Parts: sequence; C-alpha cells; structure tokens
Amino acid sequence: MILDGKTVSAKIIEELKEELSHRAKKPYLAVILIGDDAASRVYVRNKKKKAEYIGIKAEVIEYPSNIEEEIVLNKIDELNNSPEVTAILVQMPLPEHISKEKIICRISPQKDVDCFTPENTGRLSIGIKPYFYPATPQGILMLLDAYNIPVEGKHAVVIGRSNIVGKPMAQMLLQRNATVTICHSKTKDLDKIIKTADIVVSAVGKKIVRCKMVNKKSVIIDVGIYRDSNGNLTGDVDFKEVEPLAEYITPVPGGVGPMTIASLMYNVVKS
Ligand code: NAP
Repeated sequence: MILDGKTVSAKIIEELKEELSHRAKKPYLAVILIGDDAASRVYVRNKKKKAEYIGIKAEVIEYPSNIEEEIVLNKIDELNNSPEVTAILVQMPLPEHISKEKIICRISPQKDVDCFTPENTGRLSIGIKPYFYPATPQGILMLLDAYNIPVEGKHAVVIGRSNIVGKPMAQMLLQRNATVTICHSKTKDLDKIIKTADIVVSAVGKKIVRCKMVNKKSVIIDVGIYRDSNGNLTGDVDFKEVEPLAEYITPVPGGVGPMTIASLMYNVVKS
C-alpha cells in the first residue's frame, strides 16, 4: 500500500489553516536566505507560499553570498528579541565563510522551528520535550500515525545519521518504543540488517534499498530525494521492485517531501 504523503499533508495544511482562522494573533515566520543557490531559493519560496496560504505572516530576509557573518548574527539577535517574530529559519547550506555552528547556536530555542539548536537537539536526545521536533522525522511519524501503523516493539532500521534526519529519526522512534538500528556508510552487511526490519527509513541520497533486501511485511519510508542521470526526481528505494513486496511504501515525490513541509508548518503554527 502506498503511503500518500500528498493527501495526508494537504489535510494537515487545511486543519492548520482552519485553526489559524480562529486566532487573533498569527504566527510570524522569518526566513534568512543567504546567497543565490537555486535549490535553496525554491525551498524558501515554497515555504513562504505555504505559510501565507495557511495565514502565517512570512518574511524572507535575503543577503548576498559575501555578507559578513556578524551582520547575520546581529539579525538573528534582532529576530530573537522581536515580540512579533515567533519562528526563525536559516536556510542551509550557508556560504563557506559563515560558521553554521555559530548561526545555529544563536537562534533562540523557543523560535527554532527546524530543531537545529543544541538546546532542542539536546532535549530530544535526553528525553525532555524540545520546543519543536525536527520537521522531516516528525512528518514521517505523522504519516505513520495517519495510517495507524504501530511503531512500539517494531525493529526500525534508519539508514543515514545526519543531524537533520537520521539521528533525530532514530531518537524519535526510540521514544515511541521501537528497537532502533542506525546504519551509515561504514555499516557492514546492510542488506542483512534491512532484511530484519519491520520499518526502514532511508535517508541517504542514493539508490540503496533493493528488493532482495526487503522483508515482505516491512514499512519502507524513502526520505532521499535527488535527480537521476535522466534528470528525474528519485529516492533511495527502487520503488518499482520494492513496492510489490513491501506492506507500506512512500513514493518519491509525493511521500516524505510534502509531509516535511506540513510538519514544518505545524511547528510554525505552534510557535
Ligand atoms: P546527508 O547529511 O548527506 O547524510 C547521508 C547519510 O547517508 C550519511 O549518514 C551517510 O553515512 C549515509 N550513507 C551514505 N552512503 C551510504 C551507504 N552506501 N550505505 C549506508 N549509508 C550511507 O543527508 P541528509 O541531509 O540526511 O539527506 C539524505 C537524503 O534525504 C538526501 O537525498 C536529501 O535530499 C533527502 N532529504 C529529503 C527531505 C524531504 O523532506 N524529503 C528532507 C531532508 C533530506 P556517513 O555518516 O557514514 O557518511
């Protein structure tokens, strides 16, 4: 069965819009965009469009790629102190001369809707509720919940250990009482590990999950999204081969991508 992120996310977006229509004070999202990376521009434009559709006030603060780090840090201070701004996003990647660590550490955890700050990631890892959960893993759990797919007691295999997807996904599955295995580029016998999984979350960025690895009853969540040699958007899972075997599977596009946006908007509305 296909896990339809497009439909589930559209429902969440409508619910958020409805919720905001009854609120006098609207959330205010400030997005900092540095440089002219084409993909980043598209992501920011989409976030702003979706936010405004829901009724969130959204502002994009743009800087050229040679902007001084201090100016960006001062802007973050200003946004942190603004009583109007409720949510801050800094679009990654940053130009090389700007320290990602310094930028992330400067954002107020109470406005950190991406869950990038040490306070929020630290809270997540020691089991204290963060102010916000990271968008992609939270969106994946929302999708599993929408289909009533249980997590407790299941063996979840997370492929990838990035700070934005793999690691927080593993933490959140653990908090839901899954038994979690984290795999990465140095993992041996990845295929054997995947065979034992009830739930596979793949966040790598290349074709990694093939049909011979998949246990018939598993739930396959494909986070990866990139263009193949023909320029088509594709994911980590060989969808054609795996779909007939898996119990549930997310398509690319139309699976995790729209859930990430809905989950981010959920955080902004919460802010
Ligand atoms: P990342 O920071 O590049 O991390 C990739 C991870 O994959 C690393 O932990 C790496 O291991 C692991 N890896 C690489 N080759 C491997 C292999 N052969 N076997 C097992 N593991 C391997 O990536 P990310 O930011 O998490 O993103 C991953 C993918 O998800 C990308 O395609 C990205 O575009 C996509 N993404 C999609 C969404 C969405 O909303 N749909 C959101 C975020 C990301 P090491 O740590 O050992 O290097």
